[in-house]
Amino acid sequence: MLYLDNAATTPLQHGVFEAMLPYLNENFFNPSSVYKPARQVRAAIDEARQIVADVLNAAPNEIFFTSGGTEADNWAIKGALEASKRGRHIVTTATEHHGILYVCKHMEKQGCEVTYLPVDREGFVNPQDLDAAIRPETALVSIMFANNEVGTIQPMEALSEITNRHGVPLHTDAVQAVGHIPIDVETLGVQMLALSAHKFGGPKGIGALYVKKGTPIFSLFQGGAQERNRRAGTENVAGIVGMGAAIDISAKEISCELPRVSALRDRLIREISEKIPHTVLNGPLGDKRLPGNVNFSFRFVEGEALLLHLDMQGCCASTGSACSSGALEPSHVLMSLGLGHELANGALRFSFGAGNTEADIEKLMQILCPAVQKLRALSPLYDDFLKQ
Ligand code: PLP
Repeated sequence: MLYLDNAATTPLQHGVFEAMLPYLNENFFNPSSVYKPARQVRAAIDEARQIVADVLNAAPNEIFFTSGGTEADNWAIKGALEASKRGRHIVTTATEHHGILYVCKHMEKQGCEVTYLPVDREGFVNPQDLDAAIRPETALVSIMFANNEVGTIQPMEALSEITNRHGVPLHTDAVQAVGHIPIDVETLGVQMLALSAHKFGGPKGIGALYVKKGTPIFSLFQGGAQERNRRAGTENVAGIVGMGAAIDISAKEISCELPRVSALRDRLIREISEKIPHTVLNGPLGDKRLPGNVNFSFRFVEGEALLLHLDMQGCCASTGSACSSGALEPSHVLMSLGLGHELANGALRFSFGAGNTEADIEKLMQILCPAVQKLRALSPLYDDFLKQ
């Protein structure tokens, strides 16, 4: 199998499963109980919280565990809005993950106003547009750190300089970035940041929201006093421990992995551009792009058909975010970049991770080139194009 869909999810890193196992077996105690074995479980949660905090340059009491990126994003928006004394206006971007976008759509139905900032052809927000969009009643700005489809890394420091000048909290969905590029919440200047363990070699169903001390936010769930009264519900102990182990390994390996994976990305971009005609790279080049992300539109080809061809040969890729594949609507991200329907529907994302090597690029090219040729041979549009 050739797995090139690490933006959808990643396999567990070595050692993560072993770190989790005791908390699914003998260390099953409820961390809220008072006896000694339960206190040891509580200590494991505290240790994982410390690791996550250290990696992000946050304080441990600024890290709140959630069930993943979606919950962290939902909480940031709904919690900040409810707590805001400024008003009920949100600023976000047109290319957010549905974990943000659909929450904003829902909040519009509840009477909130939302400004969706446009992006340029490479997916970047213009800081001047953000400055102009903020109003006295703006409760929150939410701008993703890195895009899951095209890999664009936003200029977060320039954006936070603006939100901080206006005194508006800034949330960033950093689900695709954490574990892959160094992140320091102090340097970034954000008030909230969402992360999800399964994107960096941790288990699924566990994530966290960083909330800078003093940021007004209401709880999403009411119930027990877990997570310092901010997130009720018995903790996913094994998940939390697994997330701590995975972020620890990622942080230790980032100085090797970032250049290694970026080189794989750049080689695939070069090879596709050189060997397959009529292709368009979506998203930027270089260090403004996520290290593992490659996204191309193949003209005269349906992305879904190409995906099936690759699948039949054991290659896993994606036509967009995994959450929206299955729906044949063109990707809202690619449409926001200004691609027409043809290019948006002909797009494919390949995303590299820790398990990929140069040999995978060779294997992929051996499958991809004939698959594109075969599909184009069946395309009446391509036929017309050749006759021109
Ligand atoms: N935000 C982004 C940018 C994502 O890519 C994803 C998952 O694909 C999410 C949020 C949702 O995270 P989770 O799967 O942990 O709910």
